[in-house]
Amino acid sequence: MLSKSKYTRGINCQKSLWLYVHKNEERLVSEALQAVMSQGTSVGELACEYFPGGRMAVLEDYPFMESAERTQDFIEQGVQTIYEATFIFDDTLVAVDILHKKDGKWSLYEVKSTNSVKPQHIKDVAVQYYVLKGCGLDLEDAFLMHLNRDYVRRGKLDIKQLFLPESVFAQIVPLQQDIALNLGMLREMLDNDEPIIPMGGQCSSPYACDFQAYCSRLVPAVEQEIKVLSSLPEVKEAEVKAFVKKVQYPLHHLDFETIMPAVPMFNESRPYQAIPFQYSLHCQETEGGEIAHYAYLAESNSAIDPRISLIEQMIEQTKNAITIFMYSPYERTMINQMRRDFPVYAEELQFIVDRLVDLIVPFRKKYYKTETMEGKSSIKKVLPAICPDLSYSDLEIGDGMTASNSFLELYSCDNEEIITTTRENLLMYCHLDTLAMVKVFEVLQRV
Ligand code: SF4
Repeated sequence: MLSKSKYTRGINCQKSLWLYVHKNEERLVSEALQAVMSQGTSVGELACEYFPGGRMAVLEDYPFMESAERTQDFIEQGVQTIYEATFIFDDTLVAVDILHKKDGKWSLYEVKSTNSVKPQHIKDVAVQYYVLKGCGLDLEDAFLMHLNRDYVRRGKLDIKQLFLPESVFAQIVPLQQDIALNLGMLREMLDNDEPIIPMGGQCSSPYACDFQAYCSRLVPAVEQEIKVLSSLPEVKEAEVKAFVKKVQYPLHHLDFETIMPAVPMFNESRPYQAIPFQYSLHCQETEGGEIAHYAYLAESNSAIDPRISLIEQMIEQTKNAITIFMYSPYERTMINQMRRDFPVYAEELQFIVDRLVDLIVPFRKKYYKTETMEGKSSIKKVLPAICPDLSYSDLEIGDGMTASNSFLELYSCDNEEIITTTRENLLMYCHLDTLAMVKVFEVLQRV
């Protein structure tokens, strides 16, 4: 039997659906995708509070036929709100996140943990409408219920403000004529051999496909000329020297790590707002002098906003700096957001912003480049090109996304050993980010 998730998967890439059904063992769900999926589940559960007092059609380990029967029973009993309302039509199963009856008329609500309606959501709701209509349920409207990007948490979560239901009825009705055809085409495809479909844009958009590892293995190794990239720098000496000359000591190097919870965890934060929970700071009083290192890493306690202690410690530890290096504008954006959200610190945070200098500039403007940087200027490309002794590859946490997901996981972890190890790994990762900046600047100073 097909389902709405199989349908949307198959519409995006038939091979992905074929593999999902016939070679599921090849599926590789990355930690990042797992984190997105679990955020989606908690958002879905929270959205039920938008229509409180409903009945749940799907019980744990409940067979879908029974869920569909239970849904029909609820409808006949006059239940006004049904969560996971299950319907089967044309050998296709859908579970509607929320089915709600108002003034005698039904509407369906599909919950998404995004900040807006995306094109792929429309196909998802369209197939639900097709099945419900086929089952004889007359829908008055169909909504995509996403997070409200403008909602600012102040105190207890305000569910009515957190979610924004947007009608997509006008967009799904014209798609109905194609759905029966698409379902037939997908069924036929599943009865045949694995389709031959080359990798392309569909592998990463709208989602990163979980069969990429499998499909990449099948790409024939093309005999290609292996070009040896040079690590010899091409340097615009005058521009580099002018950049270096403007830097005044004491010099600090600052880097944040952030989490982006879908549902705001703290007051004065919005859905998916980046919340700094960690920083690393390398400080040098004089050129060629000793380098000190400081770090901040918040407790993973959802009752405490990590930003407050971070702001206070950062203000104290940067007060003597004349130049504060960041790498890319991210730190500036984060500090400006904290200025907005915590006006009591606005002046001191502005003082930090005024001293920020972006160390990426000489690389972005190609004052200093090597072939091994491959035209990129991110620290992950620049560092191995000019400081090959320093590397992220030996670290347990080697990128910002993993750092973010690891810290988020600590909020629901009570295993002391895991907590200690994860915190050590986070500290090592962020430390390397600012140490990399120190080393990169030393290379520029030697030009
Ligand atoms: S990796 Fe690409 S080609 Fe392979 S199944 Fe997924 S979407 Fe299709």
